[in-house]
Amino acid sequence: MGPIWMTLLLASTLGLFSWSAYRRLRQVKVGVPDPRFAWNSEQIFDRVKTTLVYAFGQKRMPNYTLAGFAHVGIFIAFQVLLLNSLMLWGRGFQSGFDFWGVLSESHIIGKGYSFVKELAAFAAIVGSVAFLYLRWVKRGYDSGDPKAVKDKPRMTLGHQVNRYVFTEPILILFIIITMMLADFLYVGSSLVLDSRAFGEPIHAGWWEPFGGITAQLLSGLESDSVVRALQHAGFWWHSAFVLIFLNILPYSKHFHVLTVIPNVFAYDRRPNALPKVEDLEGKVEREESLGIKQLTDLTYKHIMDLYTCTECGRCSDNCPAYITNKKLSPKHLTLALRDHLYATEQAMFGKDALVAEPSDGAVEMPTTSSGEEPIHTFPQAPEGGYFVGDTVVDLIPNILHPDVIWGCTSCRACEEQCPVMISYVDKIIGMRREEVMMKNEFPSELQGAFNGIETNGNPWNLSSMDRGDWADGLQIPLLSDKPDAEVLYWVGCAASYDDRAKKVARSVAKLLKKARVDFAILGTEETCTGDPARRAGNEYLFQMLAEQNVQTLNGYQVSKKAVITACPHCFNILGNEYGDFGGHFDVVHHSDFLNGLLVAGKLVPSKAVRGKVVYHDSCYLGRYNQVYDSPRQILESIEGLELTEVPYWNRNKGLCCGAGGAQMFMEEQGEERVNNKRTLQLVDAGATTIASACPYCMTMLTDGLKKLDKDEEIGQRDIAEILADAIELDEVEDTPVAAQ
Ligand code: SF4
Ligand code: SF4
Repeated sequence: MGPIWMTLLLASTLGLFSWSAYRRLRQVKVGVPDPRFAWNSEQIFDRVKTTLVYAFGQKRMPNYTLAGFAHVGIFIAFQVLLLNSLMLWGRGFQSGFDFWGVLSESHIIGKGYSFVKELAAFAAIVGSVAFLYLRWVKRGYDSGDPKAVKDKPRMTLGHQVNRYVFTEPILILFIIITMMLADFLYVGSSLVLDSRAFGEPIHAGWWEPFGGITAQLLSGLESDSVVRALQHAGFWWHSAFVLIFLNILPYSKHFHVLTVIPNVFAYDRRPNALPKVEDLEGKVEREESLGIKQLTDLTYKHIMDLYTCTECGRCSDNCPAYITNKKLSPKHLTLALRDHLYATEQAMFGKDALVAEPSDGAVEMPTTSSGEEPIHTFPQAPEGGYFVGDTVVDLIPNILHPDVIWGCTSCRACEEQCPVMISYVDKIIGMRREEVMMKNEFPSELQGAFNGIETNGNPWNLSSMDRGDWADGLQIPLLSDKPDAEVLYWVGCAASYDDRAKKVARSVAKLLKKARVDFAILGTEETCTGDPARRAGNEYLFQMLAEQNVQTLNGYQVSKKAVITACPHCFNILGNEYGDFGGHFDVVHHSDFLNGLLVAGKLVPSKAVRGKVVYHDSCYLGRYNQVYDSPRQILESIEGLELTEVPYWNRNKGLCCGAGGAQMFMEEQGEERVNNKRTLQLVDAGATTIASACPYCMTMLTDGLKKLDKDEEIGQRDIAEILADAIELDEVEDTPVAAQ
C-alpha cells in the first residue's frame, strides 16, 4: 500500500509523539516519589489485579449508566483495534500482511479476531454516538446550572465551558467514528474487489458482518477504480488517524487513554490512612516543607492524577462541599493544578528557566505570584477559587484559594467515584499541612481545637480529669485496675464530653455488660487520637498524641486485646494509621461488634421497636472501612422496625454529614450547610427516626433536624441506643462487668 508513505507517516507521527511523551514525563519527575509505593511482590500482585479490574475492566464506569457503558464500549474497542492498527501498518509495507497467517481469514484465530474487531468497532461507534447525544441533545454536561447537581448527580462541565458545538471532545468523537467507519470501508471495498477479481458474487463470512454490509452497499459502484480509491481511503484514514489521535492525546483531556493504566497501577493502596510525615522534627529544624507547597512537592502519582483526569465530573457531583456551593470542586482543583503544571513548563525547562539544584533534589523555582488572571470562570465553580500562573508559585493562595482546601470534609466521596483512581484527601491535607505548620495560616476557629487537644487531650478543651465521668454508676473497670480485660472500650472525645454522645456510650457499655463482654476503659489515661488535628493539617500535634497513645496502649499490651469504639474517626485512625507509629491494634467499630454479639446469640432483642428508620452512613465507617452491612443488620434484627434508604445517596454514595476533616471545629463556608442538605435527604426518606453510628454525625444531624424544625417529629439515635431499646437491660447498670 505504499512503504514510503507508511514510513513517513510512522516516522513523523511516532517521532512527534515521543517528543510529547518526553515533555510530559519530565514534568512528572519534578515531583517526588511516593514513599508508600514499593516494588514488592505483595504490592505488585495487588496492583496488577486492581489495574485489570479498574483500568481494563472499567469497573467504576457504569455508575453513570449511558455515559458509563458508552465509555466501556469505546475503551474495549481501542484495546481490540490496536492489533488491527498494527496489521494495517504492516500492510503499508507488505500487501496482505496478517501476522504470518495467524490473522488471515483462512485461520480460525483470524476469523475470530475479525469478528470481535468488527463488533468492537461497532460498539465504539454506538458509544461515540451516545456521547454526542449526551453533549448535543441531552446537554447533561452543559446545563450551566449549578442547581442541577443538587438533587440528582450529573456530569459536570468539562475543562472548557462546552457552549461551543465543536470542542475537543467532539473532535475526538468524530475521529473515533470515522476511524471505525473507515475500517468497515476498507474491509467492504476489499470484499468487492476480491469478488470482482474472481468473478464471483460478494461473499462475506460470519467474521465480517459490518464489512459485509458495507460491501453490499458498495456493490452498486461499477468502476473498480472508484472502489479501489475507497479501499485506499479507508486504509489510510484508519491507519493515519490512529496516529493523529495518538498525537492529540498528550495535549488533551484524552491523555487518560494512555495514562489510566499506570495511574491505576500506582493507586493509593491505603486511601483510609494519611501518609506519615517522616522525620518531622528534623524537617522542622532544617526548615523543609512539611506538606505540599508547590508542584514540586506533589508525588509522581499526584502528577499522573493531573494527566489522567477525564473531566467526567463524578467527583464534584458527589462532593458535599461542591454541592453546597463552597469554593471547592475537586474536579476543578485537579484541572487548576494541571493547567498550572502545563503553564509552568517553560519556567521549569525553558531556556530562561531559573533552575537550581537544591540539596534534596527537588527543582527550585521562582515564586512570584502576581498578575495571574482567573481562567476558571465556570458557572458551577465559584469565581476566584482557581487560578493559573506560568511561574512555579505556592499553590495556596496563588493557584487555589485557601477556601478550596478548607472546604473539604475528607469524606472521600470524590475518590470513591473517580473511575481512574485519582486521590484528593492526601493532596488537600498535604496542602493544609503546609499552611498550618509552615505558614501558620488556617481558619482561626481551629486554634481553640488545637489548644484543647494539646492541653487537655480533647478539642473542646474540657478538663482531662473529667474524661471518664460519662461512666458514673456503670461500674466499668479501668484498664489500670483490670489489665487482663479482654476488650478495651475506646470511648473517644465526643462520647466522653458531649452530653448527647455520652448517652450513646452508656448504651454501648450496657449492651457489652449484658452480653458478658470482659471489657475495661482507660478513663483519664485516654486522650484524643489526634484525628481532628491530623485532618486539619497539624501533623505535628497529631504525632505527639499518636506517640503518647501508642505508648499507653502498648504499655497494657492492647495489641493482644480487641479494641472497640463507637466513633468511626477513632476506629479509622487507631486501626489504620497508628500502625505507622508502632501501634498495631485489632480495632472493631461498635456496629460490627454488637452485630457479632447478635449473631452469636449473646444479645437477643426481645422487645419490639415500632417505627420506620433510615440509616445514615458515616464516611469514616462506610467509604473508609466498608462497614455498611452491620449497622443495617442490627436494625433489621429488631422486631417492628422498618428500615428504609435514601435514594442514590446511601452506602458508598452516602452524603457526608459535614463534620469530618475537622469541619466540626470550623465555621462552615457560605450560607448553605452540608448537614442541612444531608438531613433533608434523610427526612425525605419518610422515616420517623434517623439512625447513625458516629457521634459527629449525630451532632450534625441533630442540628439539621432543629434547623428544619423536625426535631420533635423525627428522632436521631445511634444504632446502639435503638438496639438497647429492644433488649431487656433493667438490671445491667448495677452489675459489674462480665458478672451476670
Ligand atoms: S473528600 Fe469529600 S469534601 Fe473533600 S473534595 Fe472529596 S468529596 Fe469533596
Ligand atoms: S478526578 Fe476523577 S471523577 Fe473527578 S473529573 Fe477527574 S476523572 Fe472524573
